[in-house]
Amino acid sequence: MFTFAPRDAETSLPCPHCQRPLHIARSCHEVFMRCPSCEKCFPLKEFIPKADAAMEKFMENVYCDRV
Ligand SMILES: [Zn+2]
Repeated sequence: MFTFAPRDAETSLPCPHCQRPLHIARSCHEVFMRCPSCEKCFPLKEFIPKADAAMEKFMENVYCDRV
C-alpha cells in the first residue's frame, strides 16, 4: 500500500495509536506522518506544532517556502 521511494525520515513524535516513533514521509505532492508499526497515516498539519528537528529538516527539503 505504501510503496514510496525512501522519502521518509524517522521523527521523535510518538504514534497516537501505538506510541512508536512516527515517520515523516512524502508522496508526489504531499507530506504526511505515517506509523511503520500500525501502518496508519496522519495529516502532517496535526503534527506541525510539535515538529522536531528531523521533521523540520525533512520539510526544508520538500518545500521551497516554510509552512
Ligand atoms: Zn502506530
